Formats: sequence, structure tokens, C-alpha cells
Amino acid sequence: MSKVAIVTGGTRGIGQAISVELKHHGFRVAANYAGNDEAAQKFNAEFGIPVFKWDVGDYDACVAGLAEVEKEVGPIDIIVNNAGITRDAMLHRMTPQQWREVMRVDLDSLFNMVHPVINGMRERNFGRIISISSINGQKGQMGQTNYSAAKAGMIGFTKALALENAKKGITANVVAPGYIDTEMVQAVPGNVLDSIIAQIPVGRLGKAQEIAKCVSFLASRDAGFITGSTITANGGQYIA
Ligand code: NDP
Repeated sequence: MSKVAIVTGGTRGIGQAISVELKHHGFRVAANYAGNDEAAQKFNAEFGIPVFKWDVGDYDACVAGLAEVEKEVGPIDIIVNNAGITRDAMLHRMTPQQWREVMRVDLDSLFNMVHPVINGMRERNFGRIISISSINGQKGQMGQTNYSAAKAGMIGFTKALALENAKKGITANVVAPGYIDTEMVQAVPGNVLDSIIAQIPVGRLGKAQEIAKCVSFLASRDAGFITGSTITANGGQYIA
């Protein structure tokens, strides 16, 4: 039986590319999303991947949502922590709410998603936990103390998780993208986008599919010796 993967924020942007790529490689995929029902229905109709709505920042919602996925699709073998938000402001202007919202969706979600299913993975001696961080978690970014902290926190979480579960056939890794050509980046004004591209040595934005390919390799059995790693996919913009 093929492995089951859950992709958070799997209906749009980079998450959509990951869901589709995993399905293409024969995984049984479930895509989570937060609230954009229209995009989720369109995605479901186009790709035939079941969608599940819950807030990954809410532990109880994750417990209930993951149980539903396991009932409808099967025991979860692969978690892709992709859902993420930004609430940008310089720290001296940032509200506690802007801090908290980013921490809960971008970092608390890793605990919320992994904790309910890790024992099942340990019992079955297989698991793949792949989390989508960001170049800005590696190098820092003005206006993003919240996002940079959460995205860097994902890397520490992953290293510790990798050590704890290495003997159980479970790997934990991070993919840290640079600027990817998604709706969010396309909304940036042309002159600002040009200055962003000028900072990328390969001279272009990344493609969502390029991130999806990294994830599908990390999800495969062939990647069993890679754990605790961060794969940077940023066109050379930041070389860690
Ligand atoms: P999008 O904004 O296009 O999509 C975000 C997805 O996450 C949506 O499906 C959204 O659901 C879902 N989501 C948001 N909040 C929650 C929540 N609380 N619970 C469940 N799902 C949620 O994001 P991108 O594709 O641009 O980014 C994907 C990931 O990659 C993020 O973690 C981001 O930080 C990271 N990244 C992106 C880069 C880029 O250039 N785009 C660069 C580096 C990292 P819904 O559709 O319902 O709103």
C-alpha cells in the first residue's frame, strides 16, 4: 500500500505544488488548508486530492483533523509542514498579536502536527517529517523578527526530532526556500521585484515545483540517510 502524506497549506502556492508532486510519485495525499474554501474546492476538483480544513495553530484542531485524515486516507507516514503566514512590522512597531499569530501558525504548528502522530510512526518504524522554513529564518530579515524567529525555530525543532527518532526509521528535515514565484511574490510591485531578483545569483525567482521536488525526494525511501538537515533552495542568495 502506498504511503500517506499530509501537506499543511497544501491547496495553494508552494503547498499545492508539493501535494501534486507527491501524488505524482504515488503517495496517497491529503491537503490541509485554513479557510479559503474556494481555492480548496478548485484544487480538489483539478487534482482529485482530498482537502481537510483546520487551523494548524490549534492543537486540538490538529488532533481532530489528523484523526479524520487517518480514518479517510490511512495512517500518516509523511507530514509536510508547509502552512505559513507573515505579519511583518519592525519590532519597535510590532504588536504582541503580530508576534503571537506568526509563532502559532509557523512554529507551534510543528508540535501540533507531529505530536499526535509520532507514536504511530514509531510503532510502524517509518516516518518522514519535512518542514518548509525560509531563507529569512537563516539570515534574518528586517521587519520579520517574528517570521525569522519562527522559521529558525523550525530548524532547531527538526534537529532535535531527528535525533530522538533516528532509530525508528523516521527522518526529519527542513527545506528553506528563497524567493519563489508565488501569488505573494507576484503581488510585489515591479521595481521592488526587480531589486529582489538582482540579489539572486541565478538571476530569477525559484519555482514552486523546485521546492516540491526537494520535498518529494526527502519523502522517499531513498532519502533514509538524510536527517536533521536543512536543504537551502534559494538560487545562491544565501549560502549557509
Ligand atoms: P501561500 O500564502 O500561497 O499559502 C499558504 C497556505 O497555508 C494556504 O493553503 C493557507 O490556507 C495555509 N494556511 C495559512 N494559515 C494556516 C493555518 N493557520 N492553518 C492551516 N493552513 C494555513 O503561501 P506560500 O506558498 O507562499 O508559502 C508556503 C510556505 O513556504 C510558507 O511556510 C512560507 O513561509 C514558505 N516560504 C515561502 C516563500 C515564497 O517565496 N513564497 C519563500 C520562503 C518560504 P488557505 O488557502 O485556506 O488560506
